[in-house]
Amino acid sequence: ALEVRLASRPTGWPTEDNFEIAEVEVPTPGEGQVLVRNVVMSVDPYMRGRMNDVKSYVPPFQVGAPLEGGAVGEVVAVGTNVTSLAVGDNVLHGLGWRDYAVVPATHTVKVDPNVAPLSAYLGALGMTGLTAYAGLLATAEFKEGDAVFVSGAAGAVGQLVGQIARLKGASRVIGSAGSAEKVKYLVEELGFDAAFNYKDGPVAEQLAAAAPDGIDVYFDNVGGEHLEAAIENLNLNGRITMCGAISQYNESEKPSGPSNMIQILAKRLTLRGMLVGDHKALQPQFVAEVGAWIASGELKYSETVVEGGVRQAPSAFLGMLRGENTGKMLVQF
Ligand code: NDP
Repeated sequence: ALEVRLASRPTGWPTEDNFEIAEVEVPTPGEGQVLVRNVVMSVDPYMRGRMNDVKSYVPPFQVGAPLEGGAVGEVVAVGTNVTSLAVGDNVLHGLGWRDYAVVPATHTVKVDPNVAPLSAYLGALGMTGLTAYAGLLATAEFKEGDAVFVSGAAGAVGQLVGQIARLKGASRVIGSAGSAEKVKYLVEELGFDAAFNYKDGPVAEQLAAAAPDGIDVYFDNVGGEHLEAAIENLNLNGRITMCGAISQYNESEKPSGPSNMIQILAKRLTLRGMLVGDHKALQPQFVAEVGAWIASGELKYSETVVEGGVRQAPSAFLGMLRGENTGKMLVQF
């Protein structure tokens, strides 16, 4: 069986050389454990942070050790004293980046392929979806009539933020993304009122043109110039969800901050950071509401699925950082 290990820590943009594909024995599950054959795994922006030797809200990956991350697979063997799972069950767990994972049964969540495709438990109905739902409704305290701007709008989280805002009665939904196709997708397929390609010109100007009455909520996936532009265009008492800052994850120099912070006080803005792990209590409400919108067709989600399992996982991850995905980037085994 194969697994992906961290070969070295990147400075700036990572490359294939930072990863090593290693051949390992298929492990045997011990007491309380199950052996899972992975079927689909997630590659996520936060994994870039874990490649650095920096203590954050998740510990760094270790050089020479396999990487970790969300995956869904099939239980193929069960250790002693496991009563909650049986061979053939599908489970969500945290040991992707390998063909086979041994996981404590208590660290898995059983998922049902008859309710949703297995990949959805890593995306729209999983961590990604909860990030969008909680970040908009709880962190930004979205209310009906708000004009919402989301960056990274054609990505996994962003595509859901915009649609949840629309379905909850936003007065206007605006998105930014990195290509003309993505902009078209947002407006024509997902029902955004306006969208622009941030590579076409200054973000502040493009946002002002797309939001003539300003914005009330900014959902930040990108940071940097986008954050400054949002502060510029926010209305009185506007709110910002600080969800991510992907424009800075591969910077080797210290990034510069927004130059217009004084507007935060003049406009009485609120900037609030969020971590999805703090919002587990919202999970049932999120699955019920978003699940129903998906079932009725009112909410759509796209996925970019890279075939080829472990061997293709590093390039899928690097491709996601470069914007090669529309919606959730996944690796199929
Ligand atoms: P995405 O599916 O959005 O993939 C990343 C996207 O980022 C790419 O597709 C690319 O799209 C965009 N991007 C890359 N570089 C830049 C840049 N310099 N400027 C603008 N956009 C860029 O990933 P996710 O939906 O999984 O994550 C989105 C954000 O949410 C990330 O910042 C992530 O860290 C954060 N996050 C935070 C969580 C939390 O708990 N706080 C949980 C989950 C995610 P494009 O073509 O448009 O450039």
